Amino acid sequence: MNVSLLAYTQDADILIEKCGRVCYDSKDKTTPKSAEKFIHMLIERGHDSVLEHASITFLVTGISRALSHQLVRHRVGCSYSQRSQRYVKEDKVSYIVPESIKNNSGASELYYKTMGTIRQAYNDLMNIYKVKPEDARFVLPNACETELSMTMNFRALRHFLRLRLDPHAQWEIRNMAMEMLRLAYSVAPYSFEDMYTQYLKGLDIAVGRV
Ligand SMILES: Cc1cc2nc3c(=O)[nH]c(=O)nc-3n(C[C@H](O)[C@H](O)[C@H](O)COP(=O)(O)OP(=O)(O)OC[C@H]3O[C@@H](n4cnc5c(N)ncnc54)[C@H](O)[C@@H]3O)c2cc1C
Repeated sequence: MNVSLLAYTQDADILIEKCGRVCYDSKDKTTPKSAEKFIHMLIERGHDSVLEHASITFLVTGISRALSHQLVRHRVGCSYSQRSQRYVKEDKVSYIVPESIKNNSGASELYYKTMGTIRQAYNDLMNIYKVKPEDARFVLPNACETELSMTMNFRALRHFLRLRLDPHAQWEIRNMAMEMLRLAYSVAPYSFEDMYTQYLKGLDIAVGRV
């Protein structure tokens, strides 16, 4: 899996402060250091709509369709563009292998064998039986590798992260959420500091990243 930034609102924390201060008619209270306290106040009060003024666009590659199916359930303030299985042939049928299967010799043998059978069936449907990719794809598995770009405003992103960083979330989407949070924190630290501290800071300290 790889998560990278395609675009983001420049000086997002500053923009959020500027927009939020309109509500309180407090533009005159802006100082070079006031954004941090102001944004933390917005988040504590649940004044989340102000966070919608900033957005971020990610490119995510090397994830499964099992993950992307969960991801696109997030509807509000989120936009997606995913590689098509109608217009793009998956003739190599790349797939994601969960650690629980990778580390289990019997399970991995069955898994790789099944993927090989699927790959063969998919290609035979198109090459021998002249079935279009949009119909041949019906045999493809949840494991199938995909890539997508997505844009989320900061309110939507925080909502997504809250749900998908929870220990109950599925491991693959949780791993992706961690990378998204790391990138979001790097471009707008005050808007994501509470989540970074809660979910990632300890891990980053443990591996000497901070
Ligand atoms: C651990 C976990 C397990 C899950 N398991 C399942 C499962 O087994 N089966 C399954 O189907 N889904 C499952 N989901 C998906 C979950 O039900 C949501 O569809 C998904 O998390 C998107 O959340 P959301 O609707 O809050 O996000 P968004 O669609 O982005 O919505 C954001 C917010 O907008 C508001 N909103 C959006 N649409 C409406 C609406 N129509 N009416 C009123 N308010 C609205 C709500 O406040 C909502 O929280 C699971 C999610 C998690 C995190």
